[in-house]
Amino acid sequence: MKDKSAVILVFTIIGVVAGVVGGLLFGGHHLDDVTRASWTSDEHFKFWLTLVKFPGELFVRGLKLLVLPLVVASMICGVASLGNLRDMGRMGRRTMIYFITTTVFAALLGVALVTTIQPGAGVDPEAVRGTIGSASSESAIIKTVTTEQSKPVIDRILDVIRELVPSNLVEAALELKMLGLIAFSLIFGIALTMVGERGKPVLAFFDGVNEAVMKMVYLLMYCLPIAVASLIAANIAGSNNLLDQLVALSKYVLTVLAGLGIHLLLVLPAIYWIFLRRNPFQYLIGGAQALLTALSTSSSAATLPVTMECCVVNNGISRRTSSFVLPLGATINMDGTALYEAVAVIFLAQMLGHSLSGADIAIISLISIMASIGAAAIPSAGMVTMVMVLDAVGMDPMAGITYILAIDWFLDRFRTAVNVAGDTIGAAIVDDLEKRDASRKTAAPATA
Ligand code: ASP
Repeated sequence: MKDKSAVILVFTIIGVVAGVVGGLLFGGHHLDDVTRASWTSDEHFKFWLTLVKFPGELFVRGLKLLVLPLVVASMICGVASLGNLRDMGRMGRRTMIYFITTTVFAALLGVALVTTIQPGAGVDPEAVRGTIGSASSESAIIKTVTTEQSKPVIDRILDVIRELVPSNLVEAALELKMLGLIAFSLIFGIALTMVGERGKPVLAFFDGVNEAVMKMVYLLMYCLPIAVASLIAANIAGSNNLLDQLVALSKYVLTVLAGLGIHLLLVLPAIYWIFLRRNPFQYLIGGAQALLTALSTSSSAATLPVTMECCVVNNGISRRTSSFVLPLGATINMDGTALYEAVAVIFLAQMLGHSLSGADIAIISLISIMASIGAAAIPSAGMVTMVMVLDAVGMDPMAGITYILAIDWFLDRFRTAVNVAGDTIGAAIVDDLEKRDASRKTAAPATA
């Protein structure tokens, strides 16, 4: 099993390189042949782009297909396997403390970096507004943003809480509203343990579903290298002014990447080491498949099956802990998103010449954390919830989001990878604490 996953990992890395090179050659070759103006209307190019993207598209569909049964079954089994309510309370408390602490760290790190580096300073705000004015407003995100913008902040916060109690389970499932599904599965799992004997066949059923879905994930993983190559190549080739965008927003991009890098390579490993006294990088390498899947799908939810697989199979985290911490983490623990939102909003304020007070920065940090909790684990969800943050400090959400939208597909990958890494480190810490408790419990009667 381990050998196979190493082979898949090597092929996936080859897939990443092939995707980048292929995407640059495919897009670059095309740019040499036709003018930029006709580039987007070139049906022939679009046809090939669709074909290049197709294997990746199928892969992501396959992952998304597995998310619903996996989350529901794993949460029900996870919570039921905790045995009694008191134990679950303890694991839940530990998980929540870890989630909140790391998200706060991430948001503060973002604020510290963006206020120090000042990526948006020294730019003429009028020129920026000109760029914004000419930007397209056709995007689905912009439309969502417009709808969101009309709601007061308090309503958006209440919406997050409302999502916890969906009025219709089928609707929540159809729309993959994970927060409601998780809350339902959690309570359903607890109820099953309270029912006693009569709940056991139902539990056994969900346990079987859980195992079977994990097996399906394992099989799907054989397709990961091709999917990664396909998605990356299509994204690079399909971006119509990739280089211009990178130059214009490079300082902002570097600030976000530096923050995500510091969080991934210093903060999270340090937290891991403090608790486990083991090499955190070895642990992160065990989860590399999940991080690469996050990089190529930009979705913590779509990555969840792989995250589970990596934690259980490669890193030896118990299925019980993984089933509890990871689905919950994929939904509410988004360190990368919190960091990203704080950086993006302060960067935009610098660009647009909007001066921010200390209180504004505190509000940005707080609302970024809430917005990351409320963001769905799907691509670009962080962009939508960022409206909450912009609105909270009196900035025009439309103007802000329009400007950084072009680069979001790129940064979304990295923040999603950090979101996933945060979940896996959390699973390791919670699992270790649980194992220590268990061994203390078994040692206690012997010494007594
Ligand atoms: N794409 C991110 C995730 O799935 C959420 C975001 O847009 O920040 O974790």
